[in-house]
Amino acid sequence: MIILATNNKGKAKEIQEILENEEIKTLKELNINIEVEEDGKTFEENALKKARAIYNLTKKPCVADDSGICIKELNGFPGVKTARFLGENATPRERNEYLIKQLENVPKERRTVEFITCIAYINKNGEEKVYKGILQGYIAQKPHGNNGFGFDEIFELEDGRTLAELSSEEKNKISSRRIALEKLKAEIN
Ligand code: IMP
Repeated sequence: MIILATNNKGKAKEIQEILENEEIKTLKELNINIEVEEDGKTFEENALKKARAIYNLTKKPCVADDSGICIKELNGFPGVKTARFLGENATPRERNEYLIKQLENVPKERRTVEFITCIAYINKNGEEKVYKGILQGYIAQKPHGNNGFGFDEIFELEDGRTLAELSSEEKNKISSRRIALEKLKAEIN
């Protein structure tokens, strides 16, 4: 069994599908109620911080992830602040519009962005590993697509579609979470 440090059902489903040989349990399923502040300077730190909090409580194998986008033209902004760079109350649409505004009149070749995921894994002996996945894309001129969440509607692929225009199956095949999880899978199987 691996404990997953999230209550996000979509993530839990995606992780269970990729790690098909493992029994994945969410915090909710185990009645664990814990808030970990994501105040690290890197995705690695945040993912490890969450995984350690769960491991220290349970002494069981656990997985935690942290994701975000880094826009090259903005020196890597918003990075680890992807969820909260406009404060706690802003909506994803407001954040997306803000990022587009920052890139007003910037041509496509300078709109490159990386969707980064770090997955931290701690095994039953307390040994830690972090796996990183990166998906390259471009910040769209305006949001398009209805399937996704977060920054999906402004994250364009090479073919011009945003992540919000892919089915969840298509997105889960290429996402940075997928890339990081495949690296984890290769080591624990
Ligand atoms: P977290 O790592 O799940 O806490 O997410 C950090 C931020 O990235 C939040 O604002 C999420 O909405 C956003 N985010 C995480 N994964 C995705 C994704 O697959 N698509 C779009 N936004 C995402």
